[in-house]
Amino acid sequence: VAPVRLAVIPGDGVGPEVVAATVPVLQRAAEGTGLDLQVTELDWGGERFLREGAAMPADAADVVRAHDAVLFGAVGRPDVPDDELVWGLIIGLRQQLDLAVNVRPVHAFPGVPTRVVDTDGVDLVIVRENTEGEYVGAGGLAHAGTGHDIGIEVAVHSRRVIERAARHAFELAGRRSGRLSLVTKSNAMRHGYPLWDRVVREVAEQHPDVELEVVLVDAMAARLVQSPRSLDVLLAGNLFGDILSDLAAVLAGGMGMAPSANVLPGGDVPGIYEPVHGSAPDIAGRGVANPVACLLSGALLLEDLGHTVAATGIRQAVSAALLDPTHHTPDLGGSATTTDLAAAVLDRMEI
Ligand code: NAD
Ligand code: MN
Repeated sequence: VAPVRLAVIPGDGVGPEVVAATVPVLQRAAEGTGLDLQVTELDWGGERFLREGAAMPADAADVVRAHDAVLFGAVGRPDVPDDELVWGLIIGLRQQLDLAVNVRPVHAFPGVPTRVVDTDGVDLVIVRENTEGEYVGAGGLAHAGTGHDIGIEVAVHSRRVIERAARHAFELAGRRSGRLSLVTKSNAMRHGYPLWDRVVREVAEQHPDVELEVVLVDAMAARLVQSPRSLDVLLAGNLFGDILSDLAAVLAGGMGMAPSANVLPGGDVPGIYEPVHGSAPDIAGRGVANPVACLLSGALLLEDLGHTVAATGIRQAVSAALLDPTHHTPDLGGSATTTDLAAAVLDRMEI
């Protein structure tokens, strides 16, 4: 088997903490399945920004392309404007590498308290369009500084981009329950989301095995809380996908439990795998960040590279560790540290 060239970007805040907890588990999964995992650590993020004026080098996309996949922690620090780091790193990479979709699974592991009504058996995936929509950075500021400032944020939705996200969502739904929910807001937005509805219905014709429903985003927010088991694969644009996936993460125990994959389906580009959460400055440096989101991102990474056994090994070990509340970090109501939980996962690796 060819080696897996893994680039690791710990980033800021809890990013380095959860990544440090994850890399040994990936190594163990690799050893157990005969994989040669070659890890390169990249110092991109807030500290690099303060030192060199940029969160990542100008040839960052080429550096990433020389690897098979990237494990990313998080960026963001209180002393640097968010757009410098978020745009300067993760949103920038998603766009430069054209990582079309952001896949965000939500799985309620048994034994994890969620403080939300009955989330037993919740298992859904949000497929978020990852390059356009409200996050293209188009628009501008008019009458700046006059007291009548107007911020104009232009959303862009193009057929090609909708189609490729839709195809990925239909294929995923076809492998799962055969149910796909498109999330738009076509009652109030008159151009972009009606185009989504039209294009996705066209793609649906090529996937007769999948049942499509179109749901308004506000109604979907309520439904995610009220009847999340009625949902399987959700397809949403960039903004709605971002917001709903934080909401959905709560169904699995919170931000510490939510993994994600930034991928270009069918494309020859390394995917970037990262927890949905950010750098969590409120808990950073205390060693109490929940590493599960990052661990599950690592499992997604191995799965997408075709190493299913290694990926399943990590998920089963995570699931087994979470059954024992003494391994729960404070966000789950426990008092375990990041390394306690990571060690419990490592102990339960059966591969
Ligand atoms: P956040 O996700 O960092 O934190 C939200 C809440 O979730 C906080 O209370 C935090 O303590 C908790 N949390 C997050 N991860 C956790 C974990 N692993 N274990 C336990 N609790 C966890 O979001 P925020 O506070 O809105 O943003 C903080 C910074 O992160 C900002 O600079 C923001 O721009 C950045 N950010 C980066 C990314 C990214 O790198 N992809 C994503 C979101 C936010
Ligand atoms: Mn987000």
